[in-house]
Amino acid sequence: MSAKIIGMLGDGQLGRMSAQAGKKLGLQTHVYGTEDNAPGTQVADFSTKAAYEDQAALKKFADRVDVITYEFENIPVETVRYLETLKPVYPSSQVLAIAQERIAEKTAMNQYGLPTTRFAPARSPQDIKAVMKEWNASACIIKTTRFGYDGKGQAFIKDSGEIERGWALLKADIVIVEEVVDFKCEISVIVARDQHGHVGSFTPGLNVHQHHILHTTTVPAPLPPHLLEDAQTIAQTLAEKINLIGVLGVELFVTQDLKLLVNEIAPRPHNSGHWTIDACACSQFEQHMRAVSGMELGSFARHHDALMTNLLGEDIFQRDQLAAQPNTFVTDYGKKEAKPGRKMGHVTVLGSVN
Ligand code: AMP
Repeated sequence: MSAKIIGMLGDGQLGRMSAQAGKKLGLQTHVYGTEDNAPGTQVADFSTKAAYEDQAALKKFADRVDVITYEFENIPVETVRYLETLKPVYPSSQVLAIAQERIAEKTAMNQYGLPTTRFAPARSPQDIKAVMKEWNASACIIKTTRFGYDGKGQAFIKDSGEIERGWALLKADIVIVEEVVDFKCEISVIVARDQHGHVGSFTPGLNVHQHHILHTTTVPAPLPPHLLEDAQTIAQTLAEKINLIGVLGVELFVTQDLKLLVNEIAPRPHNSGHWTIDACACSQFEQHMRAVSGMELGSFARHHDALMTNLLGEDIFQRDQLAAQPNTFVTDYGKKEAKPGRKMGHVTVLGSVN
């Protein structure tokens, strides 16, 4: 059987770890990205360096692969729509469009009966003021509707006197206004669905952020088991409703009174799922490559509990000391420059046997 070639839009660490998982399955990967010597390009079988708007390069890429996926959600949706006319693309452009725009995302969640915090669009400081008045809220969070990540493009409005400042900070024509969630903690679920209709998810992890960047994921999240099951049910329901093919990360708030609210979705392997490489027989990356290539999903069971810590910037220089510790698995993304805050690698420490 000739190896299928998976086309991967994006050349970062998520593409790298997907390509590595693909190798284990006998798949080849062709990475399409914009950088030289990027983490994904370093390990891919084939690569193209071109802009996401370059139709000629996209056409050539599509001709050389069997199926196409992506590893980050800021790929222009028009690029994915164009590629869909040439080859199957998973997850679909409809899923990508929902995940790229926060108002569409939260509206879709509510349509599917999945809970979110209260939200409303606003096109001016006056709109924000009106929303706060309607909600009888003294504070709110405003966010740009697109291209927000790691806490960028959002402002906390602690009283109505701060609306103008927050609006000016975001430099946007439209923002989403959200009710401030008094959350107990943040968790995430990595869900996958294949082309045969199988759906499954990994045990939810507890996520702790530092300076708005994921710091650690602890699995299982230390919450009542029924709540973890409910979070998995939410993620799996969503996967079915949107006809997901591939892997998707669902980030949720757990409120003080133990309610679950979906905050964000990402239709790709997720940073909070990196622990699955070392604590599960089948990682999130393997599930993703299985699903998009047409294979059936593997097991979601974990053989150990896990604590994953991101290695940011110069943290990567501790790589060898960490690797010398028992039950400790280090992954280095092969990035040349250890800039502050840059995700350079991660370390997973396995806990008790599950
Ligand atoms: P996001 O870009 O939506 O993932 O938000 C980044 C972080 O800001 C989240 O991980 C939360 O810690 C915080 N945050 C976002 N939205 C809200 C909200 N509505 N209420 C309270 N905290 C929030």
